[in-house]
Amino acid sequence: MSSIISIPSGGRCTTASPVVIEGVGLHSGAQSTVRLEPGSDGLRVFDGNAFIPLRDVSVARTPRCTRLELPSGRRVDMVEHLFAALRIAGVTDADMSFIGDEVPVLDGSSSVWLDAFARTGLTRVGGAIECLLVAKPVSLTVGSSRFCALPGQFSLDCTIDFPNAHIGRQRISVDEQTLGSLAVARTFVLEHEIAMLKANNLALGGSLENAVVIGEAGPLNPGGFRVDLECARHKALDFIGDLMVLGVPVIGRFEIFAPGHSANNAFVEEMATSGALRRVSILEASPVSLAA
Ligand SMILES: [Zn+2]
Repeated sequence: MSSIISIPSGGRCTTASPVVIEGVGLHSGAQSTVRLEPGSDGLRVFDGNAFIPLRDVSVARTPRCTRLELPSGRRVDMVEHLFAALRIAGVTDADMSFIGDEVPVLDGSSSVWLDAFARTGLTRVGGAIECLLVAKPVSLTVGSSRFCALPGQFSLDCTIDFPNAHIGRQRISVDEQTLGSLAVARTFVLEHEIAMLKANNLALGGSLENAVVIGEAGPLNPGGFRVDLECARHKALDFIGDLMVLGVPVIGRFEIFAPGHSANNAFVEEMATSGALRRVSILEASPVSLAA
């Protein structure tokens, strides 16, 4: 059996001009800056004195965010909302520099990045676009988190189940056309968890400006939830960002239950090391045939 897979966008893109975003880190509470320069060598990260390909950067398993570990020993926390924005916008090439150890949380979603890309505009980069195709089924269970990837057109089906009356069981499904609907969903936290997080030096920069805080009576944020199923959408957004640590879009049918960063990173590693992914290079948005 073979199926026809289309790649996400019309081709390779980078930002038309530099994007510089400053803000506070959710966990550290420290001010930091991210600079994205237009690029033509894929997604790269500055480390010491050179830009290195994102796919050569390792990822640590951390429960509350995704952490890059650069060859120099530097670490950069909470890259996931930025990386999800790159995937959603179709930015395939950019040179990223991080000043500080944690990417600013901004409003807790990917919106600020996407607004910035919309302001600067994107320009085409010549050459073939690279993707990783899921070439054979792969699955992983990590604690209560379950993941499955199948060959096929990109889709993501994400279910969460929280023992909380204001979250409960939520399921969201997106494909390439509706992926952008995840972008506005904010990170969330249960009000009773905040003291424990702060005691562990986490969420020190957290506020109602950058997270949905869910209390006994529901969200404490003015206006409540921003979109329906915001919590499931945000977990799906995080997963999209965590997939992008491989440096290029990963195309397949994903079904995930109760994802979290540490488990997401384990699944990405499983996909990358199990031979389930096939790297393809395509000059234009022409469909490619995948033996499934
Ligand atoms: Zn998140």
